[in-house]
Amino acid sequence: MTVETYTPNKTTTLETAKKTIAEQNENRGETATAGGNKIGFVSLGCPKNLVDSERILTQLRTEGYEIVNSYHDSDVVIVNTCGFIDSAVQESLDTIGEALKENGKVIVTGCLGAREDEIREVHPGVMGISGPHAYENVLEHVHQFAPKPEHNPFTSLVPDHGVKLTPKHYAYLKISEGCNHRCTFCIIPSMRGDLVSRPVGEVLSEAERLKNAGVKELLVISQDTSAYGVDTKHSTGFANGMPVRQNLKALSEELGKLGIWTRLHYVYPYPHVDDIIPLMAEGKILPYLDIPFQHASPRVLKAMKRPGKAERTLEQIKKWREMCPELVIRSTFIVGFPGETEEDFQILLDWLKEAQLDRVGCFKYSPVDGAAANEIEDQISEDVKQNRFDRFMQLQQEISAAKLQKRIGTTMKVLIDEVDEEGAIGRTYADAPEIDGVVYLNEEFNVKAGDIVDVAIEHADEYDLWGSVIR
Ligand code: SF4
Repeated sequence: MTVETYTPNKTTTLETAKKTIAEQNENRGETATAGGNKIGFVSLGCPKNLVDSERILTQLRTEGYEIVNSYHDSDVVIVNTCGFIDSAVQESLDTIGEALKENGKVIVTGCLGAREDEIREVHPGVMGISGPHAYENVLEHVHQFAPKPEHNPFTSLVPDHGVKLTPKHYAYLKISEGCNHRCTFCIIPSMRGDLVSRPVGEVLSEAERLKNAGVKELLVISQDTSAYGVDTKHSTGFANGMPVRQNLKALSEELGKLGIWTRLHYVYPYPHVDDIIPLMAEGKILPYLDIPFQHASPRVLKAMKRPGKAERTLEQIKKWREMCPELVIRSTFIVGFPGETEEDFQILLDWLKEAQLDRVGCFKYSPVDGAAANEIEDQISEDVKQNRFDRFMQLQQEISAAKLQKRIGTTMKVLIDEVDEEGAIGRTYADAPEIDGVVYLNEEFNVKAGDIVDVAIEHADEYDLWGSVIR
């Protein structure tokens, strides 16, 4: 699901990826075409929302709209909102308020858009509201308030891969929408509906276009990546004229053929995940699994209505590591879920000690409007939540620090994310952008963003590494 797996390692706050068009243009080195009506855009929330923003922007550019960098230059401002937890709702409402104050003409879309009344109550002046992945509704609203410009799509400068809000060298690849589960703390299915997988041929041709545009790392995302193709009964699609089954293994195999990094997010530990591990061991996709375990106590997992068989997870992790010793596992957890006893929490700590996960994020449970978990008796006090959070993070910090110490003296491939006068920052296969650690390269001026270089690892702390490029 959305934010559950995107808790950064080092903080409990909801880190929303607020991307403006200014950043987008900087990242992509693109300039908007002149002559269209001018649209400002703010994208909040998780990578899945970011992909929705990219789709809307691509369509707007295709229609000839100009995408601008400031509220004042915009004819209309679109705010793509997040509505997952209270702080995300508040940030979305604040951003809408800011856009109304600075510009006045505001269209709202995204997860919070599914709760129109809530938005109207605070901001009655919003011109149009639509829910998540309602691309057509957003465009209809735009057409209403900023009429389509005269435009020749054959001569405009929409890149082949569409408009991207990420830096040029990595991109999110969304493989499905919605979710068939009903976890009690989550309202995503009520906002985004049941699972709908994108046709495998469509996903693969987007991946190919991204690679051709210079992308070096694909981040596969969805609400439930392991379930890819379940809704289509794993029917057969086509890619480059060849039949490809619509399931995670076949998709991963095909992505592996592109010769760029492929990283899987939001993978639930269903038995068939075992089939993906050999692809990691063979170097076809990155040996990295982002699995939102959320808890380890069977009682709490049952109350959460989590998918997957929790009792077997330690066994599975052991087996995967035997199959692929390089495997890095990232996860997120919720502490202080209603009814969580000290005994449940101790089960979680014991599980964490045993599992030795590489990267871990943690949330203190916070009720979400409309979530079934709100009805569970025995809500946990903020003090207890904080205490459990601190103990959990302390333990994970020790595990993470010990694991990173073992990297010292090794050589790792590093994908460079940014370079400035102080040096360069990159990531290894073990780190996803924005949520995991980084590698700092001191005084490295001969690399540029998007390069993949060999780095001798020299130093580590709890979360990050330091090293020098091997020449
Ligand atoms: S219902 Fe569960 S599996 Fe589905 S998006 Fe929400 S948390 Fe994730």
